[in-house]
Amino acid sequence: MLRVLLIFLFTSFAANAFSQSKPVRELAPGVFYYFGDELQKKSANCVWIIFRDYVLAIDANYPWGAEEIITEIRKTTDKPIRYLFNTHYHHDHTFGNCVFKDTGATIVSTEHTAEEMYTLGQYEWDHGTGYSGKDMSRYRREFPSLTFDKRLVFDDGTHRVELIKMGPAHTAGDGVAYLPKEKILVTGDLFVNGNPWGNNVDDAHADYEKWLNVLEAMAGWDVKIVVPGHGDPATSEHLTRQRAYLKDMLDQVSAGIKAGKTKEQLVNQIDLSRHPVYGENKVSIRRSIGDMYERLTKR
Ligand SMILES: [Zn+2]
Repeated sequence: MLRVLLIFLFTSFAANAFSQSKPVRELAPGVFYYFGDELQKKSANCVWIIFRDYVLAIDANYPWGAEEIITEIRKTTDKPIRYLFNTHYHHDHTFGNCVFKDTGATIVSTEHTAEEMYTLGQYEWDHGTGYSGKDMSRYRREFPSLTFDKRLVFDDGTHRVELIKMGPAHTAGDGVAYLPKEKILVTGDLFVNGNPWGNNVDDAHADYEKWLNVLEAMAGWDVKIVVPGHGDPATSEHLTRQRAYLKDMLDQVSAGIKAGKTKEQLVNQIDLSRHPVYGENKVSIRRSIGDMYERLTKR
């Protein structure tokens, strides 16, 4: 019931935040962005890069989202979709792996993300309908078969895509894709642009201090377009804004715990409204503060 309520509140928010977006946009020659639409339960963004001989896609969405993404990819090229990179293990980024696999793609991730898919990700799959909103029994799971520790580079002279491990931060295995020629960064859910749920601060392996460091580091990279896991493409300035929001929350929750305040008190007292977009959804903030309190007091 709670989940149903949350989904309702989420979609109400998403309707306002995301309604202006187009489904597919060419960010640079041969680099495309697919807008993940929460209202349609196709919530995670996808990016694909058309190399000379093949396509590398980033994040699988749900199976029905993956089918739509592949249809969109086919409108831009007939080259084979050879690789699908999972930025992290979450359902909305990996449940569609089977659809990409069936087109011939090899699933790629960091070693840590592959490990998380067998543990935390398996829990999500076992409770799949609760996460995706649809019956998952007609689909199957597919795991990464090509993994890397720190970095994996695709470079054929036309495009260069550097897959870089940044976790632990939002999850243990977080990986990003950096395109130095086009100055595009694809962050997965390390960064979201308008997502109302406080960006999974309750995730089992979320490491707040490291997450702040990662956002700060990426804000210093040579980047023109930052593609978030959810929401519209943005700029490095938005990484800084999300960092400020997360840091403010962490500082206030930590100080409250030190002062002996209860979770209820913190949820009711902490004010993050000075942060544009991130601080505007009261339901999300209360949930995030409560989750952060739980995480910090469990240690
Ligand atoms: Zn996500």
